[in-house]
Amino acid sequence: MRSYHLIAPAKINLLLEIVGDRPDGFHELVMVMQSVDLADELELKPLGGDRISLHCTHPQVPLDESNLAYRAAKLMQDCFPGRGGVDITIQKKIPIGAGLAGGSADGAAVLVGLDLMWNLGLTQDELCALAAKLGSDMPFCISGGTALALGRGEELSPLPDLDRLYAVLAKYQSLSVSTPWAYQTYRHEFGATYANTPAAQQERRRTGPSVGLLGAIAHRDPASIGRSLHNDLEKVVLGHHPQVGLLREKLAIQSPLGAMMSGSGPTVFALAATREEAQRIATQIQIELPDPDLEVWVTKFIGRGIHLAESEP
Ligand code: ATP
Repeated sequence: MRSYHLIAPAKINLLLEIVGDRPDGFHELVMVMQSVDLADELELKPLGGDRISLHCTHPQVPLDESNLAYRAAKLMQDCFPGRGGVDITIQKKIPIGAGLAGGSADGAAVLVGLDLMWNLGLTQDELCALAAKLGSDMPFCISGGTALALGRGEELSPLPDLDRLYAVLAKYQSLSVSTPWAYQTYRHEFGATYANTPAAQQERRRTGPSVGLLGAIAHRDPASIGRSLHNDLEKVVLGHHPQVGLLREKLAIQSPLGAMMSGSGPTVFALAATREEAQRIATQIQIELPDPDLEVWVTKFIGRGIHLAESEP
């Protein structure tokens, strides 16, 4: 058995619509997810026995059973006993609690890495089914690219690649938003408007904001994609964090294509058609909001999820 070096890309949401409640207590969602080239890197090495050891370059990442990379390794050991232990090192580059699915990406990388290390030959569907046991965003992290995600986020359909576009991501380092808090607050404030029967949910999906975005993606039309960005969670997060609202406003002014919050935030992104345009937006936002706490990344859309580092055979 050999070691594996994996790349675990972050995702942004081009669309996040809350349709209603599900019988399992989760929200019924429509999301359009997009992988970007801001990524964690994971090194997986075989270990004797059934030990799972975890290291991370970021001091705030938990190294216990709550870490999604640990939980993914444990799930693989439970499903495929007797294959051995694993030593996992995470080089954290995706900010934490940012709405960029960093933890899910790490968990997905461990599933893919152990499938390779233990020579299991799992299909993409089998890996996604395992990922769905650990988190709603994790199946998308496995396959990545551009995808429509329904249900809790685990029912995925691939969409045409948008890998020519760029996104400028911006986040206040000291700010993070709890995803459960954002959804609970949304239910509290907007629960009365939910579509809760299958027929009402179907109708909501047929007439909701995803229709315009899916059309724009089919035509790979950047201006129309920018106009169709939508995130229901902005209604609760921006009000609670005015700083994020201001950041979104400034990015929207700078970007000819549009800006929006990703997932449950607080990361905000601006779309750009070229790297030069993205660099200009990134520079401009740092001039307009001079604050050492503000982190900015220029990222490119990519058409894949978890993959081996280029140096790997
Ligand atoms: P999502 O977009 O899926 O809601 P997020 O980007 O908002 O995710 P994460 O960075 O995945 O949030 O982390 C949220 C919390 O999960 C962290 O506060 C941390 O305690 C926990 N966590 C578990 N595993 C990891 C991991 N591998 N990396 C980072 N955080 C992790």
